[in-house]
Amino acid sequence: LAMTVTACGSDDGGDDASDTDSSSQSSSADGKIGVILPDTESSVRWESADRPALGAAFDAAGVEYDIQNAEGDAERMTQIADTMIGNGVTVLAIVNLDSESGAAIQEKAASQGVATIDYDRLTLGGSAEYYVSFDNTVVGELQGQGLADCLGDKKANIVYLNGAPTDNNATLFADGAHSVLDEMPYEVVGEQDVPDWDNEEAATIFQQLYTAANGKVDGVLAANDGLAGAAIGILEGNGQAGKVPVTGQDATVEGLQNVLAGTQCMTVYKSATQEAEALAQAAIALVNGEEAETTGTTTDSEGGRDVPSILLEPQSITKVNVMDVIEDGGQKAADVCTGEF
Ligand code: BGC
Repeated sequence: LAMTVTACGSDDGGDDASDTDSSSQSSSADGKIGVILPDTESSVRWESADRPALGAAFDAAGVEYDIQNAEGDAERMTQIADTMIGNGVTVLAIVNLDSESGAAIQEKAASQGVATIDYDRLTLGGSAEYYVSFDNTVVGELQGQGLADCLGDKKANIVYLNGAPTDNNATLFADGAHSVLDEMPYEVVGEQDVPDWDNEEAATIFQQLYTAANGKVDGVLAANDGLAGAAIGILEGNGQAGKVPVTGQDATVEGLQNVLAGTQCMTVYKSATQEAEALAQAAIALVNGEEAETTGTTTDSEGGRDVPSILLEPQSITKVNVMDVIEDGGQKAADVCTGEF
């Protein structure tokens, strides 16, 4: 263990207790909340950060809950939703795998008197009572600004590795990043969506874009830490890791380690605790027939409606403030500080 840089210098980060099981406890509120997470592959966040944070938030609120993961399969999400509805959930929150299947799940839930919430991803054409997320356009802006800060005010060739085309957030991230980077003297020499945010496919896609650009790539806008890791792997194979700045998102252990190692220029921290608490607050309001506190509304262009929303503030993380994530409980120093940083 080498702990030489500020972020990894101070303490051991406490214990390693983590809860990855679906669980429930007897309730003090009259209701049961079902949550369906999307997968385990597009980002480690769903199981490593969201599940324990959601469990803690529901436990603190004294409400019964059931958290499941659809494993990247929309049919499976539909089946889990049916089972949860059959088991008497009063509120169903989903992180949709695509808007079409998400909207169908919500329509079915509504027909059974079950209220729904969009957790993290807005379901276009859906019927959720609330949308709980971060300001995802700002996430993209932070990524764009982070890349611009790393590249500076000179000519540069950049490549975009965007998220899943079926994820409304991916559109917002790319829009936000473009709004910043399009003002810079950069040339976009490649831009592609990564279906399902699949990291392996991201490596293949990035290799193709890199080859098509004759290796003349100066910066990479990667939409999350998993995609960043894929790009960094290819850059490494070309002796360019650490020379070509790459962005990310989720402040995962791998992402933070890459930031500390200098192979990743930045990541975006979105507190799972905050997001889970916002979801619990909205769900409990629905259970009690009350109105949740919101930050505004979000327009669902497809459904032509304004969805009451709770949108939280994301934070840009570079080498100098990795410690913020650890101090906020977003990761443990013991997990992050395992390398030569
Ligand atoms: C989330 C990101 C995540 C990505 C892949 C997005 O909808 O906002 O935090 O990295 O999905 O799971």
